[in-house]
Amino acid sequence: MRQKKIKDATIENIAAMGTMVTPEQLKIDKDKKITLEIGSGKGRFITSLANDFPDELFIAVEREQNVCYRLSQKKHTLKLDNLIVIMDDAIYLGDYLGAVKVDKIHLNFSDPWPKKKHHKRRLTYPTMLKTFKAYLKESGQIILRTDHADLFVDSFQYFNEAGFQVVSYNWSLPPSQYMTEYEVKKREVGPIYQLVAEFKDDKSL
Ligand code: SAH
Repeated sequence: MRQKKIKDATIENIAAMGTMVTPEQLKIDKDKKITLEIGSGKGRFITSLANDFPDELFIAVEREQNVCYRLSQKKHTLKLDNLIVIMDDAIYLGDYLGAVKVDKIHLNFSDPWPKKKHHKRRLTYPTMLKTFKAYLKESGQIILRTDHADLFVDSFQYFNEAGFQVVSYNWSLPPSQYMTEYEVKKREVGPIYQLVAEFKDDKSL
């Protein structure tokens, strides 16, 4: 997400709002339902969920400082103690999670990287998915929501290659209570696609 530089979006201010800005192993109750969003942007989706489900745990990861500042502000204003915000690249999440595994990973409007030479940067590229698989509980799910048809179509193959099974998909997802900033904007111009992929319990993979 491109974002204008915000004067107050310093690491110190972001950390002061409770966001993790350096790797540290999380101490969390493993028995709780845990939902992770990778690339949360300004945080509309994950903060509304955390607000509505106080007994569950939520983790938001966003690597872009100016965007993460907005996300951190939402967490701070809403006093969301059940939401952990991490400002880092998702590939380093293992340093925070340790042995903690999550029930669901949401990838909402991930950068589509349309050029073929950049496809490996996509968050659903098999190498990325294999990294994310290590963060998931058995039969945990990854939910991809996007407006980008090419990314959506290619992702079926990516999930398959990475040992996931696509258990449901929708080529025209109806609006819901929980939508990201991008979803609200993109709905005005076309359909929204979603797929749900489950971690296959296949030891050979
Ligand atoms: N989910 C939000 C933002 C979508 S834009 C929405 O739907 O409105 C994609 C976001 O993912 C950007 O803010 C970008 O900084 C973040 N992002 C991309 N790759 C990432 C990675 N590897 N780790 C953490 N954040 C990432």
